[in-house]
Amino acid sequence: MAHQTFIDKESGFCFGVVTAIKKAEEELAKGEPLYCLGDIVHNGREVERLANLGLVTIDHDTFKTLRNVKVLLRAHGEPPSTYQIAKDNNITIIDASCPVVLRLQSKIKKRFQEDGNCQIVIYGKKGHAEVIGLEGQTNGTAIVVEGENDIESIDFTKDISLFSQTTKPLDGFNRLIESIKDRQKGGNFDYFDTICRQVANRIPNIRRFAEENDVVFFVGGKKSSNGKVLFEHCREANPNTFFVSGPDEITETQLQQCEGKKIGICGATSTPLWLMVDVKNLIDSKLD
Ligand code: SF4
Repeated sequence: MAHQTFIDKESGFCFGVVTAIKKAEEELAKGEPLYCLGDIVHNGREVERLANLGLVTIDHDTFKTLRNVKVLLRAHGEPPSTYQIAKDNNITIIDASCPVVLRLQSKIKKRFQEDGNCQIVIYGKKGHAEVIGLEGQTNGTAIVVEGENDIESIDFTKDISLFSQTTKPLDGFNRLIESIKDRQKGGNFDYFDTICRQVANRIPNIRRFAEENDVVFFVGGKKSSNGKVLFEHCREANPNTFFVSGPDEITETQLQQCEGKKIGICGATSTPLWLMVDVKNLIDSKLD
């Protein structure tokens, strides 16, 4: 029987990333230099494609040294200090912060301004760009926790308002709520499910996709945390799952397992469709 290859329709860029890349391409088409603060997406191949079009990726230290240039802010969002530096240095901001992240930033800022005594707790990855942007709404006073076993820095006798980084898993958020409730010794506890549904539904979808296929190639960037999580779910649902960054990483041994099988190709929120198509084309060309 001939093999069959399928690309998961639910995989690939979320709308926040699609919009950011579109903005970058529009600006680059004008032929002027364009900088991007941090990798526009956690996928080395897509960063390389845009670099070839002229996009220069910089870090925050370099950003502070720039004057009179255009800088694109990616979907993760930035803290207020970034906008202040831009203002001081006459930098034109092309703001591609995702509207979902911007709404979350305002919600946190509002809560912080309403009640200075309330502890703002953010369920998120410490040091992640989106989380830094969220902490910035509270002048850096928010407490970031990575899960239900990381809650020692919270004062359980005081009011707590809990928010979530948009890409954290819903089950982890629910477990964290329960742990905080168990430890509370007075004070109010309110929590806001601010998880983005563009990613929350990906776990059950990708597990289903992995189960439906005999062999799975998960295409992702090595720096993508969302990619790592989704890959683990794929592998749990189907042990014949391989992680590849692109078609060049597919090995002969892997291809031997694909003969006559149903092969699924899927990826992270940061995986471009063209890369999944390249993987499909490589497999098809080797097995035909
Ligand atoms: S995952 Fe959701 S919040 Fe994050 S960039 Fe994508 S659409 Fe925006």
